[in-house]
Amino acid sequence: MKAVAFREHGGPEVLELVDLPTPEPKAREVRIAVRAVALNHLDVWTRKGWKGLMLELPHVLGSDIAGVVEAVGAEVSDLSVGTEVVVNPGLSCGACERCLKGEDNLCKSYRILGEHVRGGYAEFVCVPRQNVAPKPKGLSFAEAACLPLTFLTAWTMLTTRAQLKAGEWVLVQAAGSGVGSAAVQIAKLLGATVIATASTDAKLERARALGADHLVNYAKTDFLAEVKRLTNRRMVDVVFEHVGGETFEKSIACLPYGGRLVTCGATTGSEVKIDLKVLFYKRLSLLGSTMGSKGDLFRLLQLVEAGKLKPVLDRTLPLAEAAKAHGLLTDRAAFGNVVLTVS
Ligand SMILES: [Zn+2]
Repeated sequence: MKAVAFREHGGPEVLELVDLPTPEPKAREVRIAVRAVALNHLDVWTRKGWKGLMLELPHVLGSDIAGVVEAVGAEVSDLSVGTEVVVNPGLSCGACERCLKGEDNLCKSYRILGEHVRGGYAEFVCVPRQNVAPKPKGLSFAEAACLPLTFLTAWTMLTTRAQLKAGEWVLVQAAGSGVGSAAVQIAKLLGATVIATASTDAKLERARALGADHLVNYAKTDFLAEVKRLTNRRMVDVVFEHVGGETFEKSIACLPYGGRLVTCGATTGSEVKIDLKVLFYKRLSLLGSTMGSKGDLFRLLQLVEAGKLKPVLDRTLPLAEAAKAHGLLTDRAAFGNVVLTVS
């Protein structure tokens, strides 16, 4: 099969079109003919690599996959060839206490498709049966591929972790990203008032179209000053973070007494300073989050099918242009998801 893979970590140039053996599904796996695979910042991190990351090379990136079931393993009897599906990239053991409680993203053996094991920048990928969910009707494969990682991450951050409630205010940092544009929509669905930040006015207008109530261009204005002004110094109940280094300290300053900050990423750096006096005296909650439970994806897909949440597709590129697609992410040139089309 054709795939885009890298043999060594590095810049976008390490991504090359290669031929790899078509994977065979194990007994409880299904083989998906990949139609579309969405990019995430995780792809860029994994391509660059980090200390302790051990991958089978060549490695195939790609976590967010939409496609068609093309073959099923010997023990899969409830899914037929030809079914259109989206793939949940969270791989877990399925047997431990955490998995059985529906907290499979807390499973000790939790891994992400495309990060730890070969993913979807390829014509075919094999995944466990429990990792596929029906593709929402009325969506293209490219649109469906935008959903799993970004929406599941943003949903879990705002519901399970930050427990955002109707009437509360939330600051969504970098609302133009895949996870940020999902967060704006989910926060509105939950009944919150949303302040969205982005680096350009064009991105902010698109955030407004997704429901953002207030817009802050952080390249032109100080977002902390804007939060003070917009809330009459009440500040925001929840900050949705994933930018890290460049924004984190000021994000904390946007919280009132009892405020919550939830984060799933550190695209501009992972080391920040925290004043513990502020943390305890203001009774703040700093919450970390990664992915979400497989069960929640079904609810999200229902909300998408009902038109209450929308995938945000920036553009599609053919699989062979994966390196160019990575550049769009690192240049922050996209609004929402960049998707590679495979067949
Ligand atoms: Zn488990």
